Parts: sequence; structure tokens; C-alpha cells
Amino acid sequence: MQRRGFSKEQVFKGDDAVLPVLIIGAGPVGLVLSILLTKLGINCTVLERNKAFSKHPQAHFINNRSMEIFRKIDGLVEEIQRSQPPVDLWRKFVYCTSLSGSILGSVDHIQPQDLEHVVSPVSVAHFSQYKLTMLLLKQLENLGFQTCVPESSEGNMQFREKKILMGHECVSIDTSNDFITVTASSVNNGKQVEKDIHCNILIGADGAGSTVRKLVGIDMRGEKDLQKLVSVHFLSKRLGQFLLKENPGMLFFIFNTEAIGVLVAHDLRQGEFVLQIPFYPPQQTIEDFSPKV
Ligand SMILES: Cc1cc2nc3c(=O)[nH]c(=O)nc-3n(C[C@H](O)[C@H](O)[C@H](O)COP(=O)(O)OP(=O)(O)OC[C@H]3O[C@@H](n4cnc5c(N)ncnc54)[C@H](O)[C@@H]3O)c2cc1C
Repeated sequence: MQRRGFSKEQVFKGDDAVLPVLIIGAGPVGLVLSILLTKLGINCTVLERNKAFSKHPQAHFINNRSMEIFRKIDGLVEEIQRSQPPVDLWRKFVYCTSLSGSILGSVDHIQPQDLEHVVSPVSVAHFSQYKLTMLLLKQLENLGFQTCVPESSEGNMQFREKKILMGHECVSIDTSNDFITVTASSVNNGKQVEKDIHCNILIGADGAGSTVRKLVGIDMRGEKDLQKLVSVHFLSKRLGQFLLKENPGMLFFIFNTEAIGVLVAHDLRQGEFVLQIPFYPPQQTIEDFSPKV
């Protein structure tokens, strides 16, 4: 969203400052965008509702187009390629009755053109999202960004450019002036606080359930809730070693009468996994997936 008062020469005066660009959401999209804008000489600030970055691995397969965009960020592609597991450990999808049971089939999902730079100058990659987030934050730090939480001394500072303001949730948007006003809610010393932030351009990078999208009245198109999954993130060096020896792969589709699930091997050598289990409410509740079960 952009209002007509856009000016690169905006004067900053305390909390009434009008930021050139405000990005809502410090996921991969918000962080990459803030790096690219800064490199183009456009100052921005990021609001993130979570107080800390997630350690849940989430995404792991990075497609060619994302890697092409990452080429614009100094050394990022090289660092991902250096840090990811060797491709032979993640090129296969394995279909089985259990991890130690019969293999129903296995498919090599890497095409020669994925690696030989035929369709793209840069190959696909297998690298957990939380590790990517750490690399992006390092890049932002090098560009002069500060990550602040509401309780810290920096958190009480005025809303300035080159900040990632953690623990700040965008709760309303007002476009009735020459600039856009975003109300950010945060908890400071146990108290809920709301502050207004003004900007010329507002970018909603707040994910699939985007609050920005809803607040500006844009409908979600297409089918919703295609599948509900419970994700169990765990570390097991033993399982990693077993699969490295028996049948290395990236995804293990497990089908048997006791359980159905997809095991995502984020890193077999480190033994880092996520087990995704289909979840069918209201027949099932989240208590059915307690750590004991
Ligand atoms: C288990 C899992 C596995 C996945 N695997 C893959 C994969 O292998 N490959 C792939 O390409 N993709 C995968 N994805 C999808 C991928 O994670 C998402 O496409 C990606 O995270 C989208 O990035 P984003 O920055 O748009 O949104 P998000 O990562 O969702 O980030 C949005 C951010 O905005 C913040 N936010 C939301 N609302 C507000 C608000 N009102 N105010 C302030 N902040 C707000 C959120 O806290 C969040 O940090 C996977 C996702 C999951 C959950």
C-alpha cells in the first residue's frame, strides 16, 4: 500500500516520524525484502509479532527462483550451499510401511537440470528455514539493522528505520491521511501498549493468514484448510545414522494401519527431523498428540 505523500526526504521527528517503508512480518519474505530495499538505498523498518524467531525448522526445500533472488544478497547462496547436506542425502522421496520396514518405492526427485544450471544459474537447496533466518539476520546486522524487543532499552526507542521490532503486532491500519498509520500492539512490563507508526509505504509480509490482507479487505482466494497437520520436531542422531546407512532421503512417507505420517529429514547427519501427522478435528483434538502419546 502506498499513500500519496511519499518523499525520500522525509524529516524524522520522534514518534510522529513518517517511515519511508514499514514491513509487517519478519518471515523469510519480510527479511529478504528489507535486505534488498536497503541495498537499493530505501530505508525500512520491520514489525514482528513474535518476541523471538522460531526454532521450528518449517521450510527446507528452496526452489530455483528463491535461490536466484538470494544471489542478490552478498554470499548468501554460497553460504547455503556450503552449509546444506550433500545432495545424495536428500535427493530421494521414500515410501515405506515403517522406517525399518518394507520399502514400497523410492523416487529420485532431483532432475539433472536442477543441478546442471540448465534452467537456472543456481541449483535448488535443502536448508532449514530457521537456519536461513539466522543468515538473513546476520546480513541485516551487517547493513546496520538492530533487532529490538519491547522490554529492552532499544524497544522503548522511537520507531526509526533499520529496526526489527520484535513483539509488535500490527492490529489496525488507517489510510485516511496522506500517510498510512499502523497501530502496533506490544506487551511492555506486563502491560499491553498500543502505539501508532506512520509510513508512506506499508508492505504486508505477514504470511498466509495475513492480518494486513484482512485489515485492508482483500479476500483469500482458493480453497482454505487443504490439510491440517501436527508437526513434531525432534533430534535423534541414532535415527539419522540408521537412515544414512539404510536409505538416505529427504521425505519418508510412512503408511501402516497404526500410523500415517511424513518424516522430513532436515539433516540426517545432525539427526534433525520433523514428523508431520495428519490431524482431523473435530474427531481428533490436539490432546490426542500429547508428548506421552
Ligand atoms: C512445516 C512447514 C514446512 C514447509 N516446507 C516448505 C518447503 O520445504 N519449501 C517451501 O518453499 N516452503 C515450505 N513451507 C512454507 C514456507 O515456510 C512459507 O511459504 C514461508 O515461511 C512464507 O514466508 P513469509 O515470510 O511469507 O511468511 P511467514 O514465514 O509466515 O512469516 C510471516 C511473519 O509475519 C508475522 N506476523 C503475522 N501477523 C503479524 C502481525 N499482525 N503483526 C506483526 N507480525 C505478524 C509472523 O509472526 C511471521 O513471523 C513450509 C511451511 C511449514 C509450516
